Amino acid sequence: MTDTVNDSATGATGGAIERPFQADVARLLDLVVHSIYSDRDIFLRELISNAADACEKLRFETATGQIAGSDAPFRIAIEADKQAKTLSIVDNGVGMSREDLEQALGVIANSGTRAFMEKLEGAGDKGPAESLIGRFGIGFYSSFIVADHVDVYSRRAGQAEGWKWSSDGKSSYSVEASEDCPEVGTRVVLHLKGDAEDYLDVSTLQRIVGEHSAGIPVPIAVREAGGEEQKASEGAALWARPRSEITAEQYAEFYRTIAGQFDEPALTVHWRAEGRYEFDALAFIPGSRPFDLFNPERKGRSRLYVRRVLVSTEADLLPPWLRFVTLVVDSADVPLNVSREIVQKSPVLGAIRKAVVGRVIQELTKLADSDPTKFAEVWKNFGAVLKEGLYEEPERRDALFALARFATSTHGAGDRTLAQYVADLRPNQTAIYYLTGADAATIAASPHLEGFRARGIEVLLLSDPVDSFWVSSAVGFDGKPFRSVTQGQADISQVPLIDGAEAPAKPELDAAAATTLAKMKEALGARVSDVRVSERLADSPACLVASDMAPDRTLARILASAGRLDASMQPVLEVNLGHPLVKALLALDTAGDRADFEDASGLLLDLAHLAEGEAPENGPEVARRLSKWLARALAANAGA
Ligand code: ADP
Ligand code: MG
Repeated sequence: MTDTVNDSATGATGGAIERPFQADVARLLDLVVHSIYSDRDIFLRELISNAADACEKLRFETATGQIAGSDAPFRIAIEADKQAKTLSIVDNGVGMSREDLEQALGVIANSGTRAFMEKLEGAGDKGPAESLIGRFGIGFYSSFIVADHVDVYSRRAGQAEGWKWSSDGKSSYSVEASEDCPEVGTRVVLHLKGDAEDYLDVSTLQRIVGEHSAGIPVPIAVREAGGEEQKASEGAALWARPRSEITAEQYAEFYRTIAGQFDEPALTVHWRAEGRYEFDALAFIPGSRPFDLFNPERKGRSRLYVRRVLVSTEADLLPPWLRFVTLVVDSADVPLNVSREIVQKSPVLGAIRKAVVGRVIQELTKLADSDPTKFAEVWKNFGAVLKEGLYEEPERRDALFALARFATSTHGAGDRTLAQYVADLRPNQTAIYYLTGADAATIAASPHLEGFRARGIEVLLLSDPVDSFWVSSAVGFDGKPFRSVTQGQADISQVPLIDGAEAPAKPELDAAAATTLAKMKEALGARVSDVRVSERLADSPACLVASDMAPDRTLARILASAGRLDASMQPVLEVNLGHPLVKALLALDTAGDRADFEDASGLLLDLAHLAEGEAPENGPEVARRLSKWLARALAANAGA
């Protein structure tokens, strides 16, 4: 009964220690309780899923001899007490020590949960929060959807003491020693809210278990206090059952149980591999993006079983570029009686991993053929992640290229394949051209595209950060190299103009113009590495390109911000000799004021930055200059 831990928590009464929830938890609790009206049933799935995880952990610890096992089979019991208005979920799994209780139920440990909270903060008011929360697993805290008070009695396997955790789900919880715990495992007691008493009905409980938890590999029974126990689920692992007996809804529920997502899977793949290594596998591609998809700490969602014994929930069975896949693998060929670390390194796992990756790609390829709309959705959600595979796993590159979809300057919908691009090459076009940038709209408006448009040349518009990397590491596609339109001298003069297009500025440079450009370069100093005449512009006065040997400008920016490239690598300013602004600059150089010429040259460079969607180097200064020139132009106009 006594608490031996010396701590400063306030409000200790009768041996119980009262602690505030971590700030995130309090907020999450509030949201959970107030946002979920539509499907309250899911609280039971979350608690059953925890109970099953606990059984699987103990099963593993017993199987590997870490804990002397009892012979009692694992089971989950749900007990409804109409008198006391309590619903209890009891398991004989691994249980929780005092520290476990505080850690697991008092703080948000899961990085995904934190990312989710940040997203909610960003969303602001209640409306979006409600739709967001409906797509995210909230685990244990979902108890408070139906209960105004929750007690958790738990005894860790192998330990003598039991503990009671208790909370009203508002701002704090308490922990104390307890004699009322199961021999081993956990009893979660929900004191139901007045409007949740229908959950005391055994047939309701039967229905919910059937709908939400049928694939859980631990048997589940339901009982009314003092009554007979009734079987609610056999506890047959879903992945080990014949596919013909499993409904789409059962797959979807199982996916939600293990993925911590609330959506529909976009793709479900269930197969049994036979041959050198045998295993059952079940893979899901989510219907929406997990919140922590781009969180570097995101753990895989691969569960590895060895003959129904869960060995790891973070098995290294998928490469990072498939980290959105939720996977279950069960194999008799993986050794169980070794440490988890060694399991991870076993050659069997390497072979399984390879087979799984191959199968997932194969199924995606099939989906792209059979249901392009659905595939487009998958690509929209996960294309940016799949593209990491283009440079991380060159041997999968061809398969991934076949899946990749692009927005291009001529096909904006984002469903263009490289094969289609190559089939539509213009006469004399020898490369696949691309332009990278922050977002598709800015890229599509780039002056760089003008010369390409006039010749009808399609340009890939690449807006994912990962694009800069694969495109510079890939040799090419179908014998055509990838070439950035902002890099060096793109030679497209051999490609004929399309009908009616005006030839972009002819780079005819007389001696006077050449001198002017040299003076501009001098005036711009270290801000540019060169100033030269452009072949690629039609309507814009100037644009920026990387010098011939330098990386593409987007890549240069990414590398510079990661400290992996000298940020001083300056762009080349290309000017359009046919543009009135540039013509006026040339005139200013021969007839005008020196300071004006230098000032206007600087503005031309600022405009080129702006046209690429970049902020100019010194905004207030640019604003001051622009107002000066605008005032002059307007005054001249008014005077005329
Ligand atoms: P998650 O299951 O995604 O980890 P939950 O909020 O559902 O998140 O549970 C938090 C943690 O509490 C679990 O990871 C587990 O460590 C612990 N836990 C919850 N229920 C039980 C239980 N019945 N037996 C043992 N541990 C449990
Ligand atoms: Mg859980």
